[in-house]
Amino acid sequence: MRERESHSRRGRSLFRDPDVMAARAAGGRVTVGAWRLHLPRVFGFCGGVLNAVRLVEECLDRPGRTGRVWLLGEIIHNRTVNEHFRAAGARLLAEPDVRRIIEIASPDDTVVIPAFGVPADLDRRIRQAFPPERIVDTTCRYVQRIWDFVAERAAEGWTIAIHGKPEHAETQATSSRALTPGNALVVVPNPETADRLAAAWRRQDPAGYPPELLRQPDRIAFDRLAMVNQTTMLHTETFLVRDRLADAVRRLGGRFEICDTVCHATQEELARYRALCEQDCDLALVIGDHSSSNTRELHRLASTFGPAYLIAGAAALDADRIRHYSPTAGHEIETSDWLPREADIALFAGASCPACDIGDVLRRFAQIQRP
Ligand code: SF4
Repeated sequence: MRERESHSRRGRSLFRDPDVMAARAAGGRVTVGAWRLHLPRVFGFCGGVLNAVRLVEECLDRPGRTGRVWLLGEIIHNRTVNEHFRAAGARLLAEPDVRRIIEIASPDDTVVIPAFGVPADLDRRIRQAFPPERIVDTTCRYVQRIWDFVAERAAEGWTIAIHGKPEHAETQATSSRALTPGNALVVVPNPETADRLAAAWRRQDPAGYPPELLRQPDRIAFDRLAMVNQTTMLHTETFLVRDRLADAVRRLGGRFEICDTVCHATQEELARYRALCEQDCDLALVIGDHSSSNTRELHRLASTFGPAYLIAGAAALDADRIRHYSPTAGHEIETSDWLPREADIALFAGASCPACDIGDVLRRFAQIQRP
């Protein structure tokens, strides 16, 4: 394996890494001393992220470009990717400032909409303030499909249920398109909350459902419920939520519709990683940002098979200790004696993980080999 190259932030490729390419060519198996590292057949950036990253790169590299390039928050939830663009000259707006983009940017600046979109009112204001050639819209087509479905049903007065995480930017962007003056919106984070909503449905009374997850409860139409899900939710969990809600609605003779909006790239990815876990690996490393929903789902999956560590990158690894994100602690912690002298190690790299971060981890194993 090559020694780690010294890259400038701008010089590291988000798409291509020589050691990752070699690993792919070897069927995803890399041997470093007595450690056997396993990657699935396909890993890393999904189609939606590839598209978003390419559009931003093209925008930054456009010959004769004038004005500044503003990213409305993180373009995807990955530190390396966002730092890469910042180093290339993009301005990354922190969440509280995203809504102030119209006041902050000049008319000859360019505004980049992230892969999971922005709320509808902000989207409208941006399109009024900037000409089309100054807007780079990287919204993923899977996300757009959800918006089309909820907007149509909301206009017809359906109650909309979103299986998603209330704080996630995608769920917030979808929520903003799922509410009209004449309908109600409910966010369902997990199957347990679905049980509470089903109970409310049977009583035909929303009291008892967490009020912070319910908008315009006085507009609930108990005879029709349309459900979508945040694209990165686990398919299996979405089916549990769907079954509980559909049963409650149909028992009352109502109509239930679901738009299967789980992103297929994510589901195929989960299936591949599940297969990898079933190969009897001793432990798993999940490379990525803990703010990424997809990365956390991969970590959750890996943890059901054995020790699994969510790491931000290669710098987290040493032979005798590892710095990793703990979902229970809510921050990074250190664990010692994590690495057996000989081991099969599954490497997880989700839809937002760039090739250079995966390559760095492969090279790190070569560096920390014990004599
Ligand atoms: S994970 Fe799916 S929905 Fe999200 S950007 Fe990738 S392809 Fe699109």
